[in-house]
Amino acid sequence: MTYTSLQSPDQENYQYELRIAHLYGNLMNTYGDNGNILMLKYVAEKLGARVTVDIVSLKDRFDPDTYDIAFFGGGQDYEQTIVSEDLPDKKEDIERFIHDDGVVLAICGGFQLLGQYYIEASGKRIEGLGIMGHYTLNQENNRYIGDIKIHNEEFNETYYGFENHQGRTFLAKDEKPLGKVVYGNGNNKEDGCEGVHYKNVFGSYFHGPILSRNANLAYRLVTTALKNKYGQDIVLATYDDILSLEKAEEYADVKSKAELEE
Ligand code: GLN
Repeated sequence: MTYTSLQSPDQENYQYELRIAHLYGNLMNTYGDNGNILMLKYVAEKLGARVTVDIVSLKDRFDPDTYDIAFFGGGQDYEQTIVSEDLPDKKEDIERFIHDDGVVLAICGGFQLLGQYYIEASGKRIEGLGIMGHYTLNQENNRYIGDIKIHNEEFNETYYGFENHQGRTFLAKDEKPLGKVVYGNGNNKEDGCEGVHYKNVFGSYFHGPILSRNANLAYRLVTTALKNKYGQDIVLATYDDILSLEKAEEYADVKSKAELEE
């Protein structure tokens, strides 16, 4: 099902096209995670791409050749149980998408379900897709809730967020964290890791949504998807051109001056 309200306007001249799949978007959509779609769309349009967003939910096919970005948001244990029963039908296609370098953003419950399994709060085991090696254990009468800051050494980028999860996730040997915890709990409060980065899969526990607070990550996801599709050599507007704080401040300044003159 296409989100018609999120369709890029027809009259604009776009150079590129991007198709986003919102995996189980009608079930996995807690804590404003849908805002990540708005941010992907915002950045893509600024980079000259027309965006289409589809919900790909229970019984729908996820066609790896149709989509450029897949977003898998967070959910509660109840929804995760329902979704986990549908995952085996999509496993092969999602696995191909990931192995062909497709861009995936997975938050909290979505991040957990890309892995091996998730032990939910009551102790019941929910099977994940099993495409990635991480697994998630439960904890007694506790959740990790609060502000968090992490640093990604490879990109030399810092990300800020708000975490809210009971699951404690442990990464596999071939998985890197999205970042090392500066403050906050992260995946499990033990190993200093937060989220996951594997090929072009970016997983995290940050709600809120992560991309509107971390435009650097949004830019990375959209430019990666555009380069995958149109070639590594395409020339795109820089982060500073379209998203830097200075530009936003300049804009705010111009706007406030204009308001003063009114
Ligand atoms: N139900 C999972 C947990 O509590 C995921 C929660 C979420 O997506 N916010 O860990």
